[in-house]
Amino acid sequence: MIIAIKRGTAPEAVRTFIALLEKQGVKVHISEGASQTVLGLVGDTTGVDEKSLQAHHLVEKVIRVQEPYKRANRLFHPEDTRIDITGSDGGVRHIGAGYLGIIAGPCSVETREQILQVAQGVKQAGAGFLRGGAFKPRTSPYSFQGLGCEGLDLLREAKRETGLPIVTELMAIHQLEVFDEVDIIQVGARNMQNFTLLKELGHCRKPILLKRGYAATITELLMAAEYIMAGGNDRIILCERGIRTFDSYTRNTLDLSAIPALKKQSHLPVVVDPSHATGLSWMVPSMAKAAVAAGADGLILEVHNDPENARCDGEQSITPAVFAVLMQVLQKYAAIEGRAMYGRV
Ligand code: PEP
Ligand code: MN
Repeated sequence: MIIAIKRGTAPEAVRTFIALLEKQGVKVHISEGASQTVLGLVGDTTGVDEKSLQAHHLVEKVIRVQEPYKRANRLFHPEDTRIDITGSDGGVRHIGAGYLGIIAGPCSVETREQILQVAQGVKQAGAGFLRGGAFKPRTSPYSFQGLGCEGLDLLREAKRETGLPIVTELMAIHQLEVFDEVDIIQVGARNMQNFTLLKELGHCRKPILLKRGYAATITELLMAAEYIMAGGNDRIILCERGIRTFDSYTRNTLDLSAIPALKKQSHLPVVVDPSHATGLSWMVPSMAKAAVAAGADGLILEVHNDPENARCDGEQSITPAVFAVLMQVLQKYAAIEGRAMYGRV
């Protein structure tokens, strides 16, 4: 249930009203917009009398929320959410609410030279964040599983050298112990409905990049975000990374329509991963541009200094040179739409 408070109501009066609502056994989520305060009621609202609320002198409107997701719902938070992340260089990067966040780097951290070279390359081209997997979810147990803690050490070194905040995947909650210096925690497609993991991440204070499962609906993705938000962590970045369809020409099928759909339903920023969506490096720049044109708040791209010899996902990795050309086009796209590229700090 959503309650829009009349414009101009004193904050003290709103607080008293919230206390009254909480006495009825519901939790109240407050969204203070530039012009209006909106209260979102979560929990069991059956005991709340809608008619008497509607008659309350502070209330402008009461709306019943049909969707099962509440905190992730745009009705609860009409304005776009902006996620702010400070790099070790002191620069603040924003994602969402008019800011494009570009995350780039290899599928997995392989060697010191590899991660440092790619990190320098993407930074020079204007990326805002460095990605790199240390713990990799591989379909085969015999494939390279990532360097684990050693990979995290190398990512930390790349972070120190470039100032770029780092994004890496967490597969099990105990790994949080070694994620201290990780700036954005990625939850992979395979773990999108690992509810135990999602609940634990709800208690964590770091932003979460939540990737859509390859057979997950828009509602299921938003429910996964809701799991994390219900625990108190509302810094979620949604990620469309392709879904499984009948066609095998591309690795997955990029669901571009997920971008406007998610942004209509939710206030959370939406980024797109054209690398895993297509599986084909030559297609990545086109799909990256399409995603930004469709309203994405950012991209996560696999970039490798030597794609042919990559230990993981080389066929979908672009080189730093291709990334640099793409970034120049994206800067222009962002400018046309009056959106800022946070990357240059
Ligand atoms: C990745 O980004 O490294 C990855 C494994 O992606 P996904 O979970 O989308 O397959
Ligand atoms: Mn990959």
